[in-house]
Amino acid sequence: MTADARRLHLALQKSGRLADYSRQLLRDAGLRIQDGKNDLAARVENFPADLMFVRDDDIPTFVGDGVCDFGIVGENVLREFVLGRPDARIEVAARLGFGRCSLRIAAPETARYDGAETLAGARIATSYPFIVRDFLARRGIAADVVKMSGAVELAPRLGIAPFVCDLVSTGATLEANGLRAVETVLESEAVLIRTLAPAGEGAAALGGQLMSRLEGVLATRDSKYIMLNASGEALKRITDLLPGAEAPTILPLHGRPGHFAVHAVCQESVFWETLQALKQAGASAILVVPIEKMML
Ligand code: ATP
Ligand code: ZN
Repeated sequence: MTADARRLHLALQKSGRLADYSRQLLRDAGLRIQDGKNDLAARVENFPADLMFVRDDDIPTFVGDGVCDFGIVGENVLREFVLGRPDARIEVAARLGFGRCSLRIAAPETARYDGAETLAGARIATSYPFIVRDFLARRGIAADVVKMSGAVELAPRLGIAPFVCDLVSTGATLEANGLRAVETVLESEAVLIRTLAPAGEGAAALGGQLMSRLEGVLATRDSKYIMLNASGEALKRITDLLPGAEAPTILPLHGRPGHFAVHAVCQESVFWETLQALKQAGASAILVVPIEKMML
């Protein structure tokens, strides 16, 4: 394969909780995804990359084998895969901030629970046997882990196991099944993973370009540009209040000696409370504007 023929391969979830967010992230990075007939793959029109739409469980395999250069998957799926294949050639390239959920052990609402030791000798049904065994091993607890590929929350009612370990976001599903969470095993969010398998010629440079675009999008998601006016005496107090701003620009105001304009990129959310505090510290004419693009 010649260097100029190399296209990156990206594995995304075909449909499900991560599918829309994953595509949107790529669109925000300026990638135009071709609307083709084929729902298993798509070409990016303005960047040398092809997308493959697969089940999330297959994404670590594709990336680990180097079939795909990048993939987007939940940390829960990644961790389960890596615990089963410790030599997997995968690295986490970025945390993406969506698909947040936690993997929790739950027990019937009526059952007694006095800490993790209660699990000793019990059965736990889960789709994440490696993660659960690892959790138990770290605490020196011996329990029986039963793998189920779905409908895990039915296990207690079916008499399969008194405990379950499953993904929870609001807890509504647990509650609907008469269960309550008793332990948190893993907090998870979607991550961008990257292959460590030898990639073809040109892949490293393309990967670098893709990463810098994605990092730009992730950095701007919570970032805001703040502009305000302040007197010289108030500057220190005000710049201390700016959330996540490294080096604000300070410019003298024309015709108002001792007064300055402060401009800063804030890398964290700017709340009304922050604006209130800035005003109290002596800031005036405060403007907060969104940032569309940023290259770090
Ligand atoms: P696939 O068909 O691709 O195998 P799936 O049914 O395994 O899909 P989804 O239910 O779409 O997976 O969930 C994908 C990922 O979304 C999960 O692995 C997890 O990282 C994340 N997620 C976020 N919130 C939740 C939740 N409440 N329940 C389950 N997964 C969640
Ligand atoms: Zn899945």
